[in-house]
Amino acid sequence: MGRLKRLSPSLINLIAAGEVIERPAAVVKELLENALDAQAQHIKIQLKKAGKALIKVEDNGMGILPEDLPLVIQRYTTSKISEPEDLFHIHTLGFRGEALASIAGISKLHLASRVPNYPWGKEILVIGGEIKEEREIGMPIGTMVEVKDLFFNTPVRLKFLKKDATELGHIYETIVRLGLAHSQVHFLLKSENRILLNLPPANNLVERISQIFGLKLAQKLKQREEEKNDIKIKCFIAPLEFSRPTTRDMYFYVNNRWIRSPFLNQVVYKTLEDIWPKGRYPLLVVFIQLPPEEIDVNVHPTKQEVRFKEPYIVQEVLGIAIKQALGESLFQEETLEGD
Ligand code: ADP
Ligand code: MG
Repeated sequence: MGRLKRLSPSLINLIAAGEVIERPAAVVKELLENALDAQAQHIKIQLKKAGKALIKVEDNGMGILPEDLPLVIQRYTTSKISEPEDLFHIHTLGFRGEALASIAGISKLHLASRVPNYPWGKEILVIGGEIKEEREIGMPIGTMVEVKDLFFNTPVRLKFLKKDATELGHIYETIVRLGLAHSQVHFLLKSENRILLNLPPANNLVERISQIFGLKLAQKLKQREEEKNDIKIKCFIAPLEFSRPTTRDMYFYVNNRWIRSPFLNQVVYKTLEDIWPKGRYPLLVVFIQLPPEEIDVNVHPTKQEVRFKEPYIVQEVLGIAIKQALGESLFQEETLEGD
């Protein structure tokens, strides 16, 4: 008798869910990305107990067809890609068809959606991945997702959650990251019925930065666009007086997707090392635009890491953009003094 046994589908689901959903902020990220992929203009997020008890996201996007609703909670069902080639031309935030399946497997999920041209919507109630109820309901066009009792059936994960203030901070930061890349979309975050963040539709990024980081900073913001070959970089950076003690406010986007990148952090440190004090970091928002075939976003299930095919060009162009934004003279004076 061999010792190998195939994992049951529900166990596979639990293991996979752990990769995508490590904390409430990950749920918020996935739900917001879905709302943005559905072209929503207004997205409202409500929390109880920092998302541990409830995460509710309502959007006014294109909705889910009633016949599709029970399918969206299955793993690897997506409306966003269908051919292997599509993987190299991703233009949506999601594409793996995993998020709702993962969330459904580790929470009590209430999903309701209505598409335009349908007089009513449909809702389903899912507990631990199983549909318990399904019915038609009256509702506005768009989608409502309610995630209750996250990790109720994965006690270890539950135990590793941090205190409410910490989890709330992660959620706030998730919304800021998406908010910066979608300045025309209205984001409203409420926790225990108190408004924590309200970002009405903004006309441009500077206005959005002003909503998040304050008018004073936005008024002093420097910006610069640089390009080389197929790589275009738009850089917004606040001058030294607004510098931070941490790297948290260094935001990088590749084709409008927020990414974490030790490599890009390094480029910034290196560029500023001669003119900024040690241990001070800029508030900076960098948008890197390049042909999809120049990067691989499929490195990690959360899609927050990318690989550049030509990192040296990215490094060069970003360095120039930062220097030009802050003023080339700043850097030159420093070299002269150093001679
Ligand atoms: P993915 O986003 O990778 O496709 P998800 O599990 O996040 O996978 O979602 C599965 C599918 O459910 C999506 O492809 C989309 O068709 C649909 N969907 C999910 N959320 C929404 C939403 N807020 N509005 C419209 N459609 C949605
Ligand atoms: Mg998704």
